[in-house]
Amino acid sequence: MTQPTAITVAYGDGIGPEIMAVVLDIMQAAGAQLAIETVSIGEQVYLAGIKNGMEPGVWESIRRTHVFLKGPVTTPQGGGYKSVNVTLRKALGMFANVRPSVSYHPFVHTRHPMMDVVIIRENEEDLYAGIEHRQTNQVYQCLKLITRPGSEKIIRYAFEYARSYGRHKVTCLVKDNIMKLTDGLFHQVFDEIAAEYPDIENEMWIVDIGAAKLAASPEQFDVLVMPNLYGDILSDVAAELSGSVGLAASANIGDHCTMFEAIHGSAPRIAGNNRANPSGLLLAAVMMLTHIGQPDVAARVHNAWLKTIEDGIHTADIFVAGISHRNVGTTEFAEAIKERLGDEPNTLARASYAALPTLSRWQPKEVHKANKQLMGVDVFLDWDEGSPSDLGDTLKSLEAGPLILQVITNRGVKVWPDGFDETFCTDHWRCRYLAPKAGLVDHRHIIALMDRIREMGLDSIKTENLYLFDGVPGFSAVHG
Ligand code: NAD
Repeated sequence: MTQPTAITVAYGDGIGPEIMAVVLDIMQAAGAQLAIETVSIGEQVYLAGIKNGMEPGVWESIRRTHVFLKGPVTTPQGGGYKSVNVTLRKALGMFANVRPSVSYHPFVHTRHPMMDVVIIRENEEDLYAGIEHRQTNQVYQCLKLITRPGSEKIIRYAFEYARSYGRHKVTCLVKDNIMKLTDGLFHQVFDEIAAEYPDIENEMWIVDIGAAKLAASPEQFDVLVMPNLYGDILSDVAAELSGSVGLAASANIGDHCTMFEAIHGSAPRIAGNNRANPSGLLLAAVMMLTHIGQPDVAARVHNAWLKTIEDGIHTADIFVAGISHRNVGTTEFAEAIKERLGDEPNTLARASYAALPTLSRWQPKEVHKANKQLMGVDVFLDWDEGSPSDLGDTLKSLEAGPLILQVITNRGVKVWPDGFDETFCTDHWRCRYLAPKAGLVDHRHIIALMDRIREMGLDSIKTENLYLFDGVPGFSAVHG
């Protein structure tokens, strides 16, 4: 008999306790060998004054077991409460969020009978770094951070996943026609890594048209990899397209810890009524069982679930008269699955499992360290005392040494020199000082410039240094 594997379990809020209870019951009936450590997270913990929603023992338990099966959590509105999910993913380095969305046609109603996609969402970077600032009366900023090692790791994971699961294509979605440096890096790394996997087809779509194609014909996609925000949005879209948000599971993969959960939330409106569909959490538990080396149990649970779906025994969210046979509650649905343990589906593809890949021995590629040369500075000002040409005249008079005022923009649009009267301006100005050639500027020139700006009584809210990396500008150009 397999030794029990220690796992951490949190029931969560809303429908969490009822779906977790039946999921644990089904796994046990299928022969899963689990030593369960139960921890408290969620609403009650938040309301007890713990801002991250986790009792102190949660970290200790997850770091001991390395595996976390988590119910959905209600994040209270306002009050500075931090999302349990975002905190766990980032603190424990769970860099990949794997979200499969599959159609169960003709047993679950969907407009996309052939859909079978896996979205691999980057989990730690992008706009989710949580670095936001209010800079002026009118303007707020959120920093989008894309790193080379972070991009390399998630993209390699997507190709490794495709290989492990016999999938034929990986598609990358980015917006690098606009964000040429950040999304441009993700695209460039995708091309580099794709070249190492000649057995797997690769393609790239700009995210807007890629999202439209995913919604219209998801069957043309296989594995998709994308930065955090696009992945967050599109994985919910994909789940809904496949039939119901209640069907989709996710695995958060790290080198040390892994967390499994349904993609849906705590659905407070149906909580406590025996109406919730436990399938998303059950399919997450199936992924967990393969991950902890119990793939036979995973397949037994998954096949029994597929047979239950085929037999038309459906919870209310997927029940459609004429397609479904019995509209059942959470516990009856779970009983039906238990009765079918050992059965296999007749029409739907039977489940068999490869373990989820991990990249525990992965090291970022050694990249040549570029020669970095300071060329200038973008100074951001909070200013509302006149026209762009007034500001241009003032800032021109502050030039000294190699730093020459080149351009002023407002929300990225050039307003000086030769701006348009029609351009709407806020109180947030980016003023670019550049040297005519490399090698002339050092940090002292920037400090001297900032001092002159201060003496003039201007409010500089931040600066960004402008560098060349091996002669290539590491900053976006200003057009117009
Ligand atoms: P939700 O996913 O809880 O509910 C959206 C809709 O889907 C509702 O109509 C709900 O009844 C239905 N639904 C969701 N899961 C279902 C299931 N298993 N069976 C049947 N129907 C189901 O999203 P929401 O209402 O936006 O959020 C509710 C709370 O959950 C919020 O506090 C939110 O912050 C939290 N949330 C938590 C997580 C998580 O812990 N991973 C994820 C998303 C939202």
